[in-house]
Amino acid sequence: MKIRKKRKILYYVLAALVLILGVVVMAYIYRTDNASAPIDKSSSKQQTHSDINTFDKNKYSINEPGSLWWIVSKTRPLPDGYIPPDLVTPDVSLNSTKSASENTLRKDTASALEKLFAGAKNNGIDYMLASGYRSKELQATYYNNYVSKSGQAEADRYSAKPGTSEHQTGMSLDIATVDRKNYLDQAFGKDTGGIWLAAHAHEYGFIIRYPEGKETITGYMYEPWHIRYVGIDLANELYKNNQTMEEFFGL
Ligand SMILES: [Zn+2]
Repeated sequence: MKIRKKRKILYYVLAALVLILGVVVMAYIYRTDNASAPIDKSSSKQQTHSDINTFDKNKYSINEPGSLWWIVSKTRPLPDGYIPPDLVTPDVSLNSTKSASENTLRKDTASALEKLFAGAKNNGIDYMLASGYRSKELQATYYNNYVSKSGQAEADRYSAKPGTSEHQTGMSLDIATVDRKNYLDQAFGKDTGGIWLAAHAHEYGFIIRYPEGKETITGYMYEPWHIRYVGIDLANELYKNNQTMEEFFGL
């Protein structure tokens, strides 16, 4: 009997030890899982972080005519005879002194502009489209007038030679307030209309294409009224970095 009892106790002790061992092993596994969890989280956080910082600069071509990020400048002319494929008249205040054609823009640019103008209106600002799409022929008329007025060197600072104007892409336009205060004048940049535009254009996918102090980079003097549609992603990026398209894409 005594031996049997001792054996029984030994079984109990062994069973208890196995149980404790089991609990310890489980606890160890559980702790390892938890300990590895934060590492996973931080590594996935880093992933997300680097995703935010890594902007895909190749998402759209800067060379292909008509591309959302197509860069047109004095040194990057449009292909000869280029006409945008989808010109429409935006549902905004238009410039009555301009032709119907100059009051058009490409479809996506036009609908983004409608949203921009609505946003401005909510803040008490009434914009008008001062000048939109310009054919090469129209740009030639403008450019020749400017040259005969101010001479070629001066005209080249603010007017594009025909075939090199961003207006010919249908993705660029000049903005003014309907009261035409400081109409296409640098003083517009210090006006309520110009200040709001500089602060909010990017939210609608537009950039101030020729910012102050970047004449040597863009080739144009400061034009607070001239905006270009590039889509919200790139517009945000350029706004955040205070960069022109030329700087951002390393041209
Ligand atoms: Zn312009």
